[in-house]
Amino acid sequence: ASSTQKIAILSVYDKTGLLDLAKGLIKNNFKLLGSGGTATLIRKNGIEIDDVSAITKFPEMLGGRVKTLHPAVHGGILARNIDSDDNDLSNLNISKIDIVVCNLYPFKETIAAPDVTIADAVEQIDIGGVTLLRAAAKNHQRVTIISDPNDYSGVLEQIEEKNEISQDFRNKLALKAFEHTADYDSTISDYFRKVYSPQVSQLSLRYGANPHQKSAQAFVESGDLPFKVLSGSPGYINLLDALNSWPLVQELSSSLNLPAAASFKHVSPAGVALGLPLTDVEKKIYFVGKNDLLSPLANAYIRARGADRMSSFGDFIALSDIVDVATAKYISKEVSDGVIAPGYQPEALEILKNKKKGKYCVLQIDPNYKPNPVETRQVFGVSLQQNRNDVKLDVGNFKIISKNASLTPQAITDLTVASIALKFTQSNSVCYAKDGMVIGLGAGQQSRIHCTRLAGDKADNWWFRQHPRVLEIKWAKGVKRPEKSNAIDLFVTGQVPTEEPEKSEYESKFETVPVPFTADERKEWLSQLTDVSLSSDAFFPFPDNVYRAARSGVKFITAATGSVMDQAVIAAADSQDIVYLENPIRLFHH
Ligand code: 5GP
Repeated sequence: ASSTQKIAILSVYDKTGLLDLAKGLIKNNFKLLGSGGTATLIRKNGIEIDDVSAITKFPEMLGGRVKTLHPAVHGGILARNIDSDDNDLSNLNISKIDIVVCNLYPFKETIAAPDVTIADAVEQIDIGGVTLLRAAAKNHQRVTIISDPNDYSGVLEQIEEKNEISQDFRNKLALKAFEHTADYDSTISDYFRKVYSPQVSQLSLRYGANPHQKSAQAFVESGDLPFKVLSGSPGYINLLDALNSWPLVQELSSSLNLPAAASFKHVSPAGVALGLPLTDVEKKIYFVGKNDLLSPLANAYIRARGADRMSSFGDFIALSDIVDVATAKYISKEVSDGVIAPGYQPEALEILKNKKKGKYCVLQIDPNYKPNPVETRQVFGVSLQQNRNDVKLDVGNFKIISKNASLTPQAITDLTVASIALKFTQSNSVCYAKDGMVIGLGAGQQSRIHCTRLAGDKADNWWFRQHPRVLEIKWAKGVKRPEKSNAIDLFVTGQVPTEEPEKSEYESKFETVPVPFTADERKEWLSQLTDVSLSSDAFFPFPDNVYRAARSGVKFITAATGSVMDQAVIAAADSQDIVYLENPIRLFHH
């Protein structure tokens, strides 16, 4: 071959389109070199090709493990058009390679087989091919790397038309080669994570969001999973809840220096609270028994669970502190799916392990774990990436933009609780808080006023549950906690059934059926709900939100500004004597 003759090296597992490419290259005066199987196939079809060993002077060895790994190959690929590289090549008698055609061993297909052994998988880890791809892609300034048979015809067209391949096309082909090796490597590490690191950096899940969605797993790409499974086996949605609720309680607890708890359902909190003491009325409405043990952490969960007991049915719990016996005992009486916390006292862990016949999910999170600041997820095959929302909220320094500027320490606490809750709530969201706990949260509504109403109605329900008539309810024998919560919900929302058979079913829960509230009674009781704080995850587009909030005792609001209606919104707040703080940070979460 003359020294000006261009050289292509071919080494492909997938031999689709290979012969046409080889013919086309020969026609355009290329010299071909091929690895074992590739060269044999081409030669058998009457096309001239040399074995790679012709330039390496080494036979393939180790049953094909070493085929193209040689300085004569990689020097020829990696050499630039610069004098020092040219000198090196001529001293060592190596020719430049212009085109590399390579695709890799079928690792994915191999490991997809039902009873593949580790040895089978290992044998399908391509070494030289990855090196060819990487070397040629690195040197794409000069070299063309073809990793996809679909690109063969495009390359031949350019060669025939202008006797060269454009830089632009070479760039695209290089990117494709880098994607090919990256995908290959991630498939290999996924495989070995599953065989060498289950429960450590990888956790197989029964299924995904629904039972028919298989191949579900959780994993980290470096280090160990930040949590350990102490009991039960978490599902996909359990983990979504756990990994959203833990950072919530961690942030809330460290912001306000108190134990914090959250009760999650479907990736939004139903309740969030600080571990503050309970009044007798609160003990009653949260079903705390006279002789029940209490602790600051137990108080936090009792409140979080108590905000919206209907929604918390079957919740996933997050606790900021080591779980004690008082907290575990209260949890053991509630219908719940699992809990995440930084640790468990041994006796508390025993209590939780016995829940749900041993199926209760208990996770221990490493409290020092810091997630990667960049987070990526896929939707419909497309990766979406952003920096994690790790902004710190400092409500005490938010600007007051209302006439009334008398902010109380309690309001700062409650606005902090509400705002941190929203940071981990599916948007749109609006949250009402009072006395260190969420009392109503509207999540995942497309319209903001619907969030404000939903959360306001929940806050009202929480308040009506404290009405003497509810406290005095005499329950029929054997009525369980969830049935009580359901009946109370019908009663306090004014939806007492009047038609059979629902009416009898409802009435069967009571020893004495309570008399429904009149409109006047409702108004009177609601007027006693005061000093409520409200946070919104984005600006209020209309003043109706403020008026609705005021009807549920809201006295303090924080929300972003930026709406064309800002002035009308603030004017509405002023008309209700509300203290309005501008939150500089939008808190959408999905
Ligand atoms: P052939 O069918 O030509 O014998 O082998 C082609 C395959 O070998 C391609 O998938 C290519 O990625 C891979 N390959 C090329 N060079 C080497 C090498 O030095 N070692 C290993 N293990 N694989 C190689």
